[in-house]
Amino acid sequence: MSAFKTICERLMINITLPDGNIKRFDNPPTGLDVAKSISEGLARNCVAMELDRSLVDLNTRISENARVRLITTKDAEALEIMRHSAAHVMAQAIQNLYKDARLTIGPVVEDGFYYDIDMEPVSEADFPKIEAEIEKLVKEKLPFERQLVSKAEALKFYGDEKYKLEMISDLADGTISFYKSGDFTDLCRGPHVPHTGFVKAVKLTKVSGAYWRADQNREQLQRIYGTAFFDKKELKAYLTFIEEAKKRNHRKIGEAQDLFSFHDEAPGMPFFHPKGMVLWNTLLEYWREEHRRAGYVETKTPIMLNRSLWEKSGHWENYRENMYTSVIDETEYAIKPMNCPGGMLLYSRRPHSYKELPIRAAEIGLVHRHELSGVLSGLFRVRVFHQDDAHIFMMPNQIEAEILGVLRLVERIYSTFGLGFNLELSTRPEKSIGSDEQWKSATDGLLSALKAYGKGFKTNEGDGAFYGPKIDVHIQDALGRTWQCGTIQLDMSLPERFDLSYIGADNEKHRPVMIHRVICGSIERFLGILIEHFAGKFPLWMSPVQVAVLAINDEMAPYAHEISSALQEAGLRTEVDSRTESLNKKIREAQLNQIPLILTIGAKEKESGTLSVRTLDGNVQFGISQNEFLDAVLSHIRDKKPDFMIFDKKGS
Ligand SMILES: [Zn+2]
Ligand SMILES: [Zn+2]
Repeated sequence: MSAFKTICERLMINITLPDGNIKRFDNPPTGLDVAKSISEGLARNCVAMELDRSLVDLNTRISENARVRLITTKDAEALEIMRHSAAHVMAQAIQNLYKDARLTIGPVVEDGFYYDIDMEPVSEADFPKIEAEIEKLVKEKLPFERQLVSKAEALKFYGDEKYKLEMISDLADGTISFYKSGDFTDLCRGPHVPHTGFVKAVKLTKVSGAYWRADQNREQLQRIYGTAFFDKKELKAYLTFIEEAKKRNHRKIGEAQDLFSFHDEAPGMPFFHPKGMVLWNTLLEYWREEHRRAGYVETKTPIMLNRSLWEKSGHWENYRENMYTSVIDETEYAIKPMNCPGGMLLYSRRPHSYKELPIRAAEIGLVHRHELSGVLSGLFRVRVFHQDDAHIFMMPNQIEAEILGVLRLVERIYSTFGLGFNLELSTRPEKSIGSDEQWKSATDGLLSALKAYGKGFKTNEGDGAFYGPKIDVHIQDALGRTWQCGTIQLDMSLPERFDLSYIGADNEKHRPVMIHRVICGSIERFLGILIEHFAGKFPLWMSPVQVAVLAINDEMAPYAHEISSALQEAGLRTEVDSRTESLNKKIREAQLNQIPLILTIGAKEKESGTLSVRTLDGNVQFGISQNEFLDAVLSHIRDKKPDFMIFDKKGS
């Protein structure tokens, strides 16, 4: 009896699940068998499995004891696997409809997938037809079957599909996997969802041109993008989000509100218009106010410095291809891509005592970085921008307090705009400079500041810069999108390279600890984010035009100008609309331009000396005295309130 049991046990397959539970099978099970042994419901929602740390198809047979993690539609990996399967289904649909279509590659990208196809040009008008064909294939629940073939067989299979042949020829000799769904077969590593029915909600999103192998001397292809979800509701929410993001596009709003523009004469270098400059200055005035309060001083260093400086800082060796250079009086110069070296020169121009530390030196520095023209994108990716930099020089025992101070400043500034944020700590990477002891004291300093600050944070082990650990700050906008803006980086390299020092209490020379930090990052990009975050509806304190003064008729125009001047005198940004247009039209335009306060000026207002005020939320108030108006508006601005409730609180 016991001998029999031993033999059986030897033949049995033990599957260890993530929770440590072990399932035993008499015969080699597939992932689906494992799922079914737990529950039918689970089996229905499984899309793939992780078998000894690699992702494989659910129907893979497990022939020896293994660790298995079932991937269900709820897991992060599931969406990618399904979207990749959706790319197959789209390619299959296209080949059904366009007999001459030749496939190349179809990867998953953020938010969806695409397939590059050599075919007649298609447009969005063709999408419904393709989507209908996809629907048909989805309804058929065609199983994805993996097939292993030799390289020779693969080449034979593809006959005249020249792109696939080229791809196979580039592969090393050995087995090649194909995936078959219905009568469609594609060269693919996998894994896939069990069948096409898992592709529940699909939508094609855009089409663009692309070159085979990204080589403009090769064939031009159609790159068709799509997205897919496990649930129709999720797809709908995503499409609504995309619509909303499109409406908020900062380039569109920048154009509509006359904020900034780009010109062919200076690609990737924004021109700010008067109204854009108001946003710019308002942001920076606020930024300076907060920095003064937090004990910062402001500096300004030149944008061009000579080659020997960049050699000393290491940029000449490591960053030169991104720098614009010039020769002046036979000396090579580079336009700064970062403010740091200038900041180091300023610190090192005279000796410092420990009593001066910490020194918090901020600089709104104008930097240039060469970006490839293909990646330029509005204010988000430019070749010239301003960094809201600061270098803080301190003693090692000041790290915690200084980092904590920066975190509090970050919170103050972001919360004024109603932006949420998350923190990420990155620790020592494999390749790094500095001693173990230095890294420990630096990382401990950052860690204890984060703990003292009390907001949770994520740790990215080994993701720090080679010169020190860092804390990245990711902001979250009104649409829930995240953007990395702020960063606090401890630097052990530059103080060495520039031989920075301070005289300690012991009268000896010491090396200061230095951090770089930005809060907005790039002012240009931060403004772009704010434009999208507010959807162009800026809070009153930032608004380029705060008050529109509309004359009811030509006769009232002089009085409208009089009112406008009085408000300007009190510090408000106003604009008079004295065109011979109907009042309704003027109101509508002012509202479209998101002007927070609209005053309509008629005979009644002139006679009584009061104001009729319309706020952007549609609220109208009559008979407000000028003083009452100014008190309410100026205090709302002073407090930088995010809402448009300007008069309600006063009950007027
Ligand atoms: Zn595939
Ligand atoms: Zn710096």
